[in-house]
Amino acid sequence: MSKIRFESSRTDLTLLDPFKDFSEEVHIVEIRKDPLVGDVSVYNPRLKDKVKFFFGDSDAGLVDKLIEDSGKDCIFCGDMIEKSTPRYPAYLVAEGRIRIGEAVLFPNLFPIGKYHAVIRLSKDHFLKLSEISPKIIGDGFRAAQQFVKAVYRQDHSASCVAVNANYLFPAGATLVHPHLQMLITPTAYSYHERLNQACRAYYQENGSGYYSDLVEEEKNLGLRYVAKTGKWHWLTAFSPMGNNEVCAVHDGENDFGALTVADLTDIAMGVSNVLAFYESLGHLSFNYSIFSARGESSPKGFHCLLKIISRQNPYPNYRNDDYFLQKLLHSELIINLPEVLASALRGFF
Ligand SMILES: [Zn+2]
Repeated sequence: MSKIRFESSRTDLTLLDPFKDFSEEVHIVEIRKDPLVGDVSVYNPRLKDKVKFFFGDSDAGLVDKLIEDSGKDCIFCGDMIEKSTPRYPAYLVAEGRIRIGEAVLFPNLFPIGKYHAVIRLSKDHFLKLSEISPKIIGDGFRAAQQFVKAVYRQDHSASCVAVNANYLFPAGATLVHPHLQMLITPTAYSYHERLNQACRAYYQENGSGYYSDLVEEEKNLGLRYVAKTGKWHWLTAFSPMGNNEVCAVHDGENDFGALTVADLTDIAMGVSNVLAFYESLGHLSFNYSIFSARGESSPKGFHCLLKIISRQNPYPNYRNDDYFLQKLLHSELIINLPEVLASALRGFF
């Protein structure tokens, strides 16, 4: 019997529909819980009718204006990156910045962690999601890993790595230009810490690792397992923490700093596939995070993993997709069922 529990329940309620002469309408709401941390997500099939209200199309004129206006004084464009971005001291990064292909890594001028680097990904100021290639993402990840290794050599307390992306303002990005932000901290930030603690508890209770059990179970079920790129397993989340969530779980490594060159190439390939998929669904804005735990200090059963979600499209007077449900109740809506999402995403791998 599986140790992973995909817990769900259903409730129904009746209301009188004003658009159908106040006749009785039964609404069914499915509640799902994440098998590791228990976070709740909610699925009401009727929300599909409201999707345009929730997730309107991008406004091409607004996006063009955003690209044009932000491109005029972008500090990530052309020579500006030399003049306007900070450098690390030589004891940490010999050249001050790390350059791999088009990727350039430098310190965030307004850090929110002990080591907080920004990685400019491309020379281009704006890329459509299908243009964010495996090479562009992979070079960014290689720069990120080079920085992790430099920090590891200097600082034994720096154990929690998160490599993150915000694309466009609905995802919280202040700059349009494609970039990553990474944190290396002695303290795991809230969700990262919840993953760590839940992995420890799962191992104690079951005597096996959560992520290897999850991958095995998802492969057996076949409902949400999407594909494998190298050592990365791609799947949709049973109880997602954002819209259209896709996860990648490494087969065995917990530490981003210890991934091989092939691992970085393979995860970049998968991210690029997911972004092309999001574009096919009409999305333009996204977030992702790669979670890592350092070497021996890693909780048993934790694997290096990536979570990627799509965000609201940019259009005038757009409605933010984080409301009380997400920000304060830490729960999420399911618009596309993870099982349906997985089936469509397989075509992109
Ligand atoms: Zn730019």
